[in-house]
Amino acid sequence: MRDLRPWRRRRLRCSLKLVVARIVVLGGGTGGTLAANRLRRQFGDHAEITVVDQDDRHIYQPGLLFVPFGLAHADEIVRPRSRQLHDGIAFRRCAIDRVEITDNTVHLADGTILPYDVLVVATGATLVPEETEGLTGPGWIEKVFTFYSLEGAAALADALAAFDGGRLVVNVIDMPIKCPVAPLEFCFLADWYFHERGIRDRVQITYVTPLDGAFTKPVASRQLSGMLAEKGIDLITEFNTGEVDGVGGRLVGYDGREVSFDVAVVVPLHGGADYIGRSPGLGDELNFVPTDEHTLQCKVAPNVFVIGDAANVPASKAGSVTHFEGETVVENVRRHLAGEPLVDGFDGHANCFIETGFHKALLIDFNYDTEPLPGHYPSAVGLPLLKESRLNHLGKLMFQWFYWHSLLPGRDIPGVGSSMPTAGKHPVDATPAGKD
Ligand SMILES: Cc1cc2nc3c(=O)[nH]c(=O)nc-3n(C[C@H](O)[C@H](O)[C@H](O)COP(=O)(O)OP(=O)(O)OC[C@H]3O[C@@H](n4cnc5c(N)ncnc54)[C@H](O)[C@@H]3O)c2cc1C
Repeated sequence: MRDLRPWRRRRLRCSLKLVVARIVVLGGGTGGTLAANRLRRQFGDHAEITVVDQDDRHIYQPGLLFVPFGLAHADEIVRPRSRQLHDGIAFRRCAIDRVEITDNTVHLADGTILPYDVLVVATGATLVPEETEGLTGPGWIEKVFTFYSLEGAAALADALAAFDGGRLVVNVIDMPIKCPVAPLEFCFLADWYFHERGIRDRVQITYVTPLDGAFTKPVASRQLSGMLAEKGIDLITEFNTGEVDGVGGRLVGYDGREVSFDVAVVVPLHGGADYIGRSPGLGDELNFVPTDEHTLQCKVAPNVFVIGDAANVPASKAGSVTHFEGETVVENVRRHLAGEPLVDGFDGHANCFIETGFHKALLIDFNYDTEPLPGHYPSAVGLPLLKESRLNHLGKLMFQWFYWHSLLPGRDIPGVGSSMPTAGKHPVDATPAGKD
């Protein structure tokens, strides 16, 4: 297993060739903030660290799930970005116009040019609802909503409160999306919410996904499909939405199938940040950055490292993944500046609490090579994996505290390493039901 601890203990100062390295971090969200804070601790005054973001509103995005159900208020999940950064880190509030990787400069929208020795790209994934025909047309934020933005989640809270029966459709337009379990959690919470209001029998809930099951990984998918069925939530798979007709209340698939709704909750297409498309050679066709999946070094520029949703690595786009990547990114920035070989430190580790309603949640833990399995996390004794429990629900609620006080400051969470633990996991047959 990759153990990063000895590197952390090693002092940088003796091996660093540059006296003061200029490190620019693009994006002050989950990855940019935790990377900048870890870099500051690693380098002290031996690096000049600048974080750039277009606004000063850091949203705790997992909290967006709770807003539509009145379980959190929009104000409670937002804090100023600049206040999450350690002393000694400069914060520039400005949109990024482009990066020129050939001359190591970042060009800001106000005309400022920031030269860098090392660049850390942490500009995440962006919603592009306008890419789907009709989605932002008539009916948008009236009958068609998303909880993937703060404004959308708040508007949906009002719409759900006024909803007293009919067809509620939850639709993922296409992958990749941030937190692929969040739309499923939305379905489970909707089931709970309408039960609480005493109108569950008047609401038909349907989950419409482009995947061939409820989730991407077979064992978890089987379990989650079973839970949808138990809760009376219909599942429509392999549906590729070509058009959203907000006025007529229809999702129209590319294959001609249609799904009717009274209220639709849509997870729009995602892409990388638009400045990546304006930065020659930096991004792929979706504006994500080609990145080595283990070292997190950009494949087109050796002094560029990528953390979080902005990378095109085959890991989930999740805050937990971003957190687990932090250690490798910071260590490899150090090694790059010191002229040492990089370390293959990141194993694709992801873990997610899946809120299932009625004060319970499921926990999944996996990496590039191992799919979510039953057992316990982080070792033989711990939180139950792939099993609903109140303990996991409490874990999900407590995570917000950890996010602001441990994850963003770049501290390690006790007992939770960055590589996926194998102790406590039980291998099972991953063959999908009905297949050899
Ligand atoms: C509804 C929802 C629920 C979620 N639930 C969970 C969960 O339960 N568990 C989990 O692990 N993850 C969850 N996530 C995912 C998690 O929030 C993200 O994966 C994580 O925040 C990614 O961090 P990041 O740093 O890559 O991107 P972000 O935190 O999104 O930060 C990107 C930053 O880049 C800035 N930026 C972008 N473009 C520009 C530009 N041109 N100029 C200047 N600044 C720019 C943005 O303003 C933003 O601050 C959820 C996400 C959503 C939407």
